[in-house]
Amino acid sequence: MSQHPQYLWWNGKQMRWEDATVHVTALGWSTVGAIFEGIRAYWNPDHQELYIFRLDEHMERFERSMKLMRLPVTYSMDELKRAIVDLLRANDSREDTYIRPLAYRGGSGQRRFSETGGTSEILINTHPMPTHLLSGRGYSACVSSWTRISDNVMPPRVKNISNYRNGQLVGMEAELNGYDTALILNTQGKVAEGGGACVMLVRDGKLITPDVTQSILESITRDALIVLARQELGLEVVERAVDRTELYIADEVFMCGTAAEITPLTSVDRYTIGNGEIGPITRKLEELLDDCFHGRSGARPNWRTPVGVAAAVAD
Ligand code: PMP
Repeated sequence: MSQHPQYLWWNGKQMRWEDATVHVTALGWSTVGAIFEGIRAYWNPDHQELYIFRLDEHMERFERSMKLMRLPVTYSMDELKRAIVDLLRANDSREDTYIRPLAYRGGSGQRRFSETGGTSEILINTHPMPTHLLSGRGYSACVSSWTRISDNVMPPRVKNISNYRNGQLVGMEAELNGYDTALILNTQGKVAEGGGACVMLVRDGKLITPDVTQSILESITRDALIVLARQELGLEVVERAVDRTELYIADEVFMCGTAAEITPLTSVDRYTIGNGEIGPITRKLEELLDDCFHGRSGARPNWRTPVGVAAAVAD
């Protein structure tokens, strides 16, 4: 059974999922210059509330992605944030949900893909995505034989759809070679990130992660974890270039991102990380992040937008 919401938002209107269709000739080129966001909302059964995690920061990055890919900004970020909240309320979303706003150049079917100007079309879709935080599962990773795209090729710091062709090759290679996931080196041969997540490692009690000039996405989860590690755990966090072999000798390694949440790696290229179990700092960060996602113990309210799902039904 396909899981789709009752409504989505397309070019200013909430509409039934089935009614949002395009002609087949619009496929392909229209998406070359598209950009998107990946946002998550978490259901708290005790509060009977759905919380969107860091909506402001996600929509700020959406706007930066549009700017870099020269897409005209046709709706204000405030309008889009309102549309997201209204959509979740209309769909009566009472479960962990993934929200994906997508912007692409309108009428691209007949246009040269390199043309500027015109208008941007925007689609916002949602689908259920249960959390896997604190599942206790450790994942195997390899270092990919592919190289991460660099800033002068396509900007990895934003969510440009075409960037994901690079991540797709990486992910398919990892799967065919029997790994759960993969890490990618940048053109300098330093560790960048995964195809859809950033990477962090623990060495001698310090949290280390590639800095934002290492061909990585400017990740919102990475930023949240840096704040939590410093402010809640009192850890030293170092953002710097990371060598491949540092992964192999690290005490703990994990990937992080909206979809990845925290994905602990227990081996990289078949080197066992630490003692092969999920490490204590990884575990602690998972707990802290989980509390922030669900609004437990009032942790960081400015990182959450309450949707008001229950109120919407009462309205
Ligand atoms: N890197 C890439 C390439 C990604 O696609 C993602 C997922 N958006 C991340 C890192 C993590 O970013 P965020 O924490 O903002 O989801």
